[in-house]
This record gives sequence, structure tokens and C-alpha cells, in this order.
Amino acid sequence: MNDQTDGMRRFAGRTALVTGGGSGIGAAVVRRLAAEGAHVHVADVVAPNAEQVAASVGGRAHAVDVTDAAAVDALVAAVVAESGSIDVVVHTAGVDDPVAKGWIQEARESGEPVDVISRLTDEGWRRVLAINLDGTFHVLRAAVRAMREQGGGAIVTVGSSASFDTLVGYPHYAASKAAVHALSQSVAKEAIAFGVRVNTVAPGPVDTPMAGRTPSSVRAAMEATGAVGYASAEELADNICYLASPGAGNVVGAVLLSNGGRFTVS
Ligand code: NAD
Repeated sequence: MNDQTDGMRRFAGRTALVTGGGSGIGAAVVRRLAAEGAHVHVADVVAPNAEQVAASVGGRAHAVDVTDAAAVDALVAAVVAESGSIDVVVHTAGVDDPVAKGWIQEARESGEPVDVISRLTDEGWRRVLAINLDGTFHVLRAAVRAMREQGGGAIVTVGSSASFDTLVGYPHYAASKAAVHALSQSVAKEAIAFGVRVNTVAPGPVDTPMAGRTPSSVRAAMEATGAVGYASAEELADNICYLASPGAGNVVGAVLLSNGGRFTVS
């Protein structure tokens, strides 16, 4: 916890759900929400990770694949049934494409141009869009329905600076995250009528297991563009928890770019 938020209890008595909470940014959000008083439900497709993170904060673990709409509906219903409300939803579950990252690495090593788009399969495209975009739709829909019923709440989705920076070799990832931004902003405009605030954080490179799968040559190129190194998951958790907190009560439909000032990497 950093100096600014140490000792704050912005989520005392609140119930929170964090998707993708078994790793990286999501796990850091779980720890921060719990440290600030929330009872946290941790959902992840990797059940043991969700269980481990939930156990570390006295929270509740759920195994869920966010591409499964019925499973996401059941997850939100279970949170409300068990805890009586769902005040904060942070949707961090997402993926990039390790196969495409391998192609980028190969190209950089051989000196050939990066050529992901002509090698990308339908399955490779669908996987990223299904998890990143369909998953966000499923979570937003289920969360807004439940929060509307109870008279309000706060939702934070996670996009990526990759959709602004248009990294070379990330066409499906960049497209999915640009769509997450637009989807979240559109839903924000509807949901605020029901007292539900929707906002998004768009991280640049963050030191998580996902970033650990980034080719070394790509990572070196990213690091060379910024005055500061990769952000920590805790820094992103700070940004996310601010948007979920009462202090951001006037912030609706924001896409908060948190990338340390890094822009194009080619
Ligand atoms: P991570 O791999 O550490 O964590 C992602 C979590 O999502 C994992 O626990 C994974 O099991 C879970 N997940 C994946 N598919 C799922 C599914 N179908 N259903 C439920 N859970 C699923 O990665 P991270 O870096 O913490 O990423 C969190 C979010 O931040 C992602 O949306 C990612 O796209 C975004 N992001 C990350 C970076 C970065 O550099 N790390 C940069 C920009 C955006």
C-alpha cells in the first residue's frame, strides 16, 4: 500500500467481485479492496489461483470462465445471494496471445518484418475477442442488472493502452481492447441513470505474469520508449480502486490511461 492510501477504508462494509482475481492486476486489486475493508469475491478460470488469493484475504473464491454468459450470470447471483449486495465489480480477466508473441519474437530475431495479421487463425482471433470483449459484455450486463436492482454500484473494466498505441503485431488484442473502451463508455451512459458508475483503466505495460510472456525484444523496445519502467500491479490497483471509490463519484465513462507516458512502439 502506498503513502497516499495507507490506512484508508474506502470500501468498509462493501461487497466486491474481482474477475481475473487469481493473478496479476486482479490479485493486487483484491488485496487492496480487502485492505480497505471490502469483503471480496475472487473469480478466475484458474480455480486454484482464485482460491489462493481469496484465502489470503478471507474472501470467497469462484471458478468462472467469463466467455460463458450463463456462468457469469450465476456468479453475480451467487455473490448477491451470499453477501446480500454487490457494490463493486472489477473486471480484469483478459488475455493476450502467446502464439502471436512468439511470431513477433521470431521476426525480431530474424530481422524480417512482423507479420501477425497474415498468420492469425480464426481460432486465434476468436479466443482473444471471446475472452476480452464477450467476457466484458457478459460481466457488464450481469453487474448492471444486479446493481440496478439494488440502486447503485461501481464497475471498473480493464482496457489497454495497446489500443491507442497500436503496438506492432497485436491486431486482435488492440481491437478487443478498443472495443472494451467503447463498450464500457456506452454502458456508462446508460447505467448512470440507475446509479451505476462504469469506468475503465487502460494500462500500459505492467509487471504481471501476462507481461512475463512478452518477448524479450518487445519488452526491450517498450522499456526504451518510457522514462520509467513497467508499472507494478499495485500501481494499477491504485488507479482501479480510485475509480471504484466514493471519491470518484463524479467520474463516469472515463478511460484512464495509465501508461507512464509511453506511446508508439514499432
Ligand atoms: P494475468 O495473466 O496475470 O491475469 C489475468 C487473469 O485473467 C488470470 O488469472 C487468468 O486466469 C484470468 N483469465 C483469463 N481468461 C479468463 C477467462 N476466460 N475467465 C476468467 N478468468 C480468465 O494478466 P494481467 O496483466 O494481470 O492482466 C489483467 C488485465 O490487464 C487484462 O485484461 C489485460 O489485458 C490487461 N492489461 C495488462 C497489461 C500488462 O502489461 N500486464 C497491459 C494492458 C492491459
